[in-house]
Amino acid sequence: MSSTLTFLGAARTVTGSRYLVEAAGRRILVDCGMFQGLKELRLRNWADSPVPPATIDAVVLTHAHLDHCGMLPRLVAQGFKGRIFCTPGTQDLCSVVLPDAGRLQEEEAERANRKGYSKHRPAKPLFTEEQAMVTLSRLQPVGYERPIPIANGLEVEFIPTGHLLGAAYVRMRRADGTAGTVIFGGDLGRYNRPILQDPAAGSKADVLLVESTYGDREHLNGDEQDRLAAIINDTAAQQGKLIIPAFAIGRVEEVLYSIKKLEDAKKILALPVYVDSPMALEALKFYQRHAGELDNDIAVRRGEVSAFCTARFTPVASAQESRAVTERGGPAIIVSASGMATGGRVLHHLASGLPDARNTVLFVGFQAAGTRGRQLIEGSHEVKIHGQFVPVAARIEKLNGMSAHADASEIVRWLRTFPGPPAVTYLVHGEPSAQDTLKTRLDRELAWNVQIPRHGDRVPLPL
Ligand SMILES: [Zn+2]
Repeated sequence: MSSTLTFLGAARTVTGSRYLVEAAGRRILVDCGMFQGLKELRLRNWADSPVPPATIDAVVLTHAHLDHCGMLPRLVAQGFKGRIFCTPGTQDLCSVVLPDAGRLQEEEAERANRKGYSKHRPAKPLFTEEQAMVTLSRLQPVGYERPIPIANGLEVEFIPTGHLLGAAYVRMRRADGTAGTVIFGGDLGRYNRPILQDPAAGSKADVLLVESTYGDREHLNGDEQDRLAAIINDTAAQQGKLIIPAFAIGRVEEVLYSIKKLEDAKKILALPVYVDSPMALEALKFYQRHAGELDNDIAVRRGEVSAFCTARFTPVASAQESRAVTERGGPAIIVSASGMATGGRVLHHLASGLPDARNTVLFVGFQAAGTRGRQLIEGSHEVKIHGQFVPVAARIEKLNGMSAHADASEIVRWLRTFPGPPAVTYLVHGEPSAQDTLKTRLDRELAWNVQIPRHGDRVPLPL
């Protein structure tokens, strides 16, 4: 095989997106994401890179979620010397996401050492904030739909997927047109949603990688706002707090947008809305800078994206203020990261809020296997936070409709925008049951050649 693709992550699972392309005598990584959730997956973050980082010529990044970009600082620290190509929106979001991840890694290691709950002595961070800052200087922004040479005659182009500010699918081919086209689908967004535009149509591809997070599910959109209103009103009536763990970039925006809409429609009282994530607050600013990429329903007025400004919006900056919010009574809405409750400030809110039956915890994104979020939505009576068991008395809810990922019908809808079937389509970024269900559906509805790769599989590429 002259040109190959090796699946180094997000194969039969939803995190750790990382694909190694060996073509034109070069090595290119598409995404370099962190594994999250199950311990056996997280351990992969510590494993040595299958190829020496110094031998990788370039990285191409689809978007700024940690499960796609989170291991870049470690790659750089271990000797990667090349550039990291991404869109300007992704560059902006990475500038808050990566240093924050490094800081959390350091804090977690420090806490584990102080309290002695890690098996590793001393516990170490995967990477540091400083290593993340060094990584940012390697980012090479490239606008949407502008082919750019990356290595030895290979070029890539970023095309919007409507999944997150700056998110893209990547079209890779030879600049001289002598070989085939490979499309890395990245994460696929949704149709007819606020804030971001719909995913752009597909284009001719010989090999396609497409995500399958919700390959076995449909999002129910119709009554989602009403359900959110009912959850807010029920919790407020009992003087409880509504704690919403949300991915700091992307989901916090959608949550604020929905609450603001309900306030405007007078379906809920204007409650204090604490946004307790410095990263989310930083990220909100980038929506102004990239207003041209947003959906038409998002207007930027007086330098603010007013669609996110709820009546009693309260940004929580310092850790001290965050503790004060934890101690304050309800009713209130607290939006905090991380979205799967795997780390971040939301853990303090959960540790204090979960034992109280007046409170509600609302999940608005996908909860991967092995995360606290998944344990909670599956009905656990207790969860372990910072080495302590916390009993669960609060009501646990989830709204899939606010997800940033296409549901099964939206994946099929997007695939139908391709001018013809690729020679092979690989399902990635999904848990096995979702992938198997989607493959069956695609076999029936499209009759494409669909494969489900395993971790470490190596396949030929027409490059
Ligand atoms: Zn994503």
